[in-house]
Amino acid sequence: MSNIDYSAEANRLETLPALETFKWIFEQTDDAWISFSGAEDVVLIDLALQVNPNVKVFSLDTGRLHPETYEFIEQVRKHYDIEIELLSPDAEKLQTLVKEKGLFSFYEDGHQECCGIRKVQPLRKKLGSIGAWITGQRRDQSLDTRAEVPLVQYDKAFSTEEHSLFKANPLANWTSEEVWGYIRANEIPYNKLHEQGYISIGCQPCTRPVLPNQHERGGRWWWEEATEKECGLHAIPVKTVSA
Ligand code: SF4
Repeated sequence: MSNIDYSAEANRLETLPALETFKWIFEQTDDAWISFSGAEDVVLIDLALQVNPNVKVFSLDTGRLHPETYEFIEQVRKHYDIEIELLSPDAEKLQTLVKEKGLFSFYEDGHQECCGIRKVQPLRKKLGSIGAWITGQRRDQSLDTRAEVPLVQYDKAFSTEEHSLFKANPLANWTSEEVWGYIRANEIPYNKLHEQGYISIGCQPCTRPVLPNQHERGGRWWWEEATEKECGLHAIPVKTVSA
């Protein structure tokens, strides 16, 4: 995988249907995993199953998700008859954080530390043993942080000297309207929080519904600057780098 020209492949796939990106992913590795957030990225699972019946899926169980999100993850597991591996934070690190700073330290000193323990570290551990991960990132989700997300990229943030992997974002060039058109047309399950004004869904204490005309990621970490509205999972969203 290290000799792939990801930039050229991203450009080539840009004009093709999303299923071609999935085919390309599974041609490169049989160990590509969908990172399912429990929101509208359920579309990833639906598409991937059309080209690969043995789809692998993981989800970050931060311990702070909405009850509706847990219910939705379970609904998706049953609907598609698939396994969803839940990744949990390191218990010791979590206990130390909560003991020293309490349960809501992110409102006082930013979300990075809590996201680091509840999301980034479990993700890093998982990515250290797989060939690729597939995300639901889209360019239209944030003009501040996601405007240049490519369809496929070498994952510079999570690759190491011993282990390299790539990241695929097959919905990068989809709009929110297209995602919801797909969900409705194919009658696939969705998180009930979407019916309550939530668009981008993360942890319960750090997500709120957005108002009309407010950008969708405006409901995430609303007490912080727009350019900070990433949790560290997508540390280098704009680079399409050849290894
Ligand atoms: S989104 Fe909020 S609760 Fe969830 S891991 Fe990040 S800071 Fe913690």
